[in-house]
Amino acid sequence: MPTLRDAPADAQIVSHQLMLRAGMIRQEAAGIYAWLPLGLKVLKKIEQVVREEMNRAGAVEILMPTLQLADLWRESGRYEAYGEEMLRIKDRHDRDLLYGPTAEEVVTDIFRSYVKSYKDLPKNLYNIQWKFRDERRPRFGVMRGREFLMKDAYSFDIDEASARKSYNRMFLAYLNVYARLGLKAIPVRADTGPIGGDLSHEFIILAETGESEVFAHRDLVEMGAPGPDIDWEGDLQPLVDQRTRLYAASDEMHDQARFEAEAAEGDRMTARGIEVGHIFYFGTKYSAPMKALVAGPDGKDVPVQMGSYGVGVSRLVAGIIEASHDDAGIIWPASVAPFGAAVLNLRVGDAGCDEICEAAYKALSDAGLDPLYDDRDDRPGAKFAATDLVGIPWQLIVGPKAVAEGVVELKNRATGERQTLPLDAALKAIIGG
Ligand code: ATP
Ligand code: MG
Repeated sequence: MPTLRDAPADAQIVSHQLMLRAGMIRQEAAGIYAWLPLGLKVLKKIEQVVREEMNRAGAVEILMPTLQLADLWRESGRYEAYGEEMLRIKDRHDRDLLYGPTAEEVVTDIFRSYVKSYKDLPKNLYNIQWKFRDERRPRFGVMRGREFLMKDAYSFDIDEASARKSYNRMFLAYLNVYARLGLKAIPVRADTGPIGGDLSHEFIILAETGESEVFAHRDLVEMGAPGPDIDWEGDLQPLVDQRTRLYAASDEMHDQARFEAEAAEGDRMTARGIEVGHIFYFGTKYSAPMKALVAGPDGKDVPVQMGSYGVGVSRLVAGIIEASHDDAGIIWPASVAPFGAAVLNLRVGDAGCDEICEAAYKALSDAGLDPLYDDRDDRPGAKFAATDLVGIPWQLIVGPKAVAEGVVELKNRATGERQTLPLDAALKAIIGG
């Protein structure tokens, strides 16, 4: 945990500053980062939340390679079209490869190799894999990197009606993901480009430093996620309609006249935000040129209907910090905290302190809290500052005076509340919630 007292001068936004100060990441090249122990733990936790919600909604995990054959992209016509954001590579046989910026072509190739009939549909395949986009202006740390971790899911359906159901499942699953991460995400209408239709949404979390501007009805901002217990096989349209009939758009799609017509003045919210997800129905855009055909009930082959669904997993690490911090540092929601609790030994080597700390560490470990034990030989003030900075939800503070009186101190990072109480009661408070 190589924490820093001051933020490096080139870090412009608070999440980037705090990630560097907390020793979560280290820049290796512009927009390319190494993930240090603390950062990696958070990244993995976010990944796991995303994975659980994808599985719940019926998607199946696979892992596609980062390096892809240019020939696949020539089939879809995107190899030339993608432009300078694509990192192009040659292997020793002079074959063109690329570092995938996304994976529609690869997943379509996998799909067409195995699935031939409508009877095997619907399908939704996802992976959580590193992507590379040679962004013109990588900035704000992992918020806009060149190499970044994305969850990308791809749905396959026999017709448009069924594709809409797949879309709805992802729409609602996304809201559950962000809610579990302690975020309020607003689904806003996004541009579907030449394909048209209304099936594209971006998910935006509010933050002053966000690169997008959003315009939304306040009721939508306040509307909660549907929760995990909805009937995923049932009719999800009403739940989606409830959220899509309220006005919400980002800069590109915004129509001020419509906004004013659809939301009263007091209900209109304009704010800056961060795009943390994007879902998209694009029909046969890839399946037609790449000949991903399935036999329909009438025996005739048709190109499969597809959609794709992206979550910016590494961007979310920064997004959560933007939404949850104070002057002292990060405040992790429990769902993604790198450690559930920290045990601070204020006098390492003192038999009483060591014994209490080790007992606390063991009890917290046994309860599955994955505690951090600060047994460094350092000043109490430095320990307090570092623990506040890295944002661990509970701090169990063990000093010689309190130990002599049979108590410890318990601090809640989010509320700042401190209590002095016997060890058992402190452990109970942490483990109980
Ligand atoms: P943006 O508009 O921010 O450039 P995008 O529309 O190009 O993003 P998508 O192709 O929709 O991005 O990718 C899905 C998700 O991946 C985005 O919603 C975002 O959260 C994340 N993402 C995209 N580009 C980056 C990047 N350079 N660094 C980190 N995360 C990214
Ligand atoms: Mg997008």
